[in-house]
Amino acid sequence: MAEVGSTIINTNVKQKDPNEALVIAVTTRAIFNLEEEHKLFLTKGKEEYVKHQQANEDKPLEQGTAFAFIQAVQFVNQKLLERNPEEKALFDVIVLSNNSPESGMRVVNSAKQHGLEISKFCFVSDEDSTQYLKSHNVKLFLSADRTDVCNALQRGVPAALIFQQDVQALTTQLRVVFDGDAVLFSDETDRVFRERGLSGAVEYERAMEAVPMGEGPLKAFAMLLGKMRKKFSQENSPVRTYLVTARSGRDMGIRAIKTLREWGLAIDEAFFMDGAPKGPLLSQIQPHIFFDDGPHNIQGAQDVGIPSALVPCDC
Ligand SMILES: [Mg+2]
Repeated sequence: MAEVGSTIINTNVKQKDPNEALVIAVTTRAIFNLEEEHKLFLTKGKEEYVKHQQANEDKPLEQGTAFAFIQAVQFVNQKLLERNPEEKALFDVIVLSNNSPESGMRVVNSAKQHGLEISKFCFVSDEDSTQYLKSHNVKLFLSADRTDVCNALQRGVPAALIFQQDVQALTTQLRVVFDGDAVLFSDETDRVFRERGLSGAVEYERAMEAVPMGEGPLKAFAMLLGKMRKKFSQENSPVRTYLVTARSGRDMGIRAIKTLREWGLAIDEAFFMDGAPKGPLLSQIQPHIFFDDGPHNIQGAQDVGIPSALVPCDC
């Protein structure tokens, strides 16, 4: 379906049950490479932009940073349905756009030409399009607009910022890497670290060892992903999840592991990097998306072609 203000266009994708599906919303600039078009919009204005998009309506847009992730999500749906044709807990992907409906046809056509299963296209003219996220039961929102991402986080929707980058995606198995502090977990230990330095943070962690950490902005999404992951055995899973944290395993690993256990969140692999750069490891894992709150970690991942999503901690 495509939702144009209140107009609906059918895209022939089987609708998922909104109460059971894991709904992901991506914006057009996160899923497609619209950098040139966006520049045109900023420099020449809306009218020229619309004209350009209409003139190129049948020319498919190139893949953007979140494209491989959405494709991998589709692969998981296939496997879930092979396992159980009645499965209702599937990924459901919505495209959210500030485009007007008349310029948005290129996006609908591009999704079709690339074989993407998008259940709804929402072309919304409102300044703050994130108000639709709650009503669509969105559990992960990916956008190239920082304000959008902050608005979503403030509404309690797990969200991350996507930058246009070169992406290589080598596997079909969906691989998702989460950072720990300020992503899966709250930023409480980060705050102690900033105030009291590393030794203060280590001391704090020791004292708090038995107390699970608070929830981070992406916890809810990770829990749903973990639930999906549990439907498969380790060998045959089309989903694989990772924790890659700057924490050291020796001093600060225990509380992290205890917290995951307390939540019942099974992570396939956990890496305690003790402050080492994450890029080389990510390059081995080859995830479809890497969530982190540290711009330097995002840069390190981008340098090795790993699709990255920043979870801003200063909204
Ligand atoms: Mg962090």
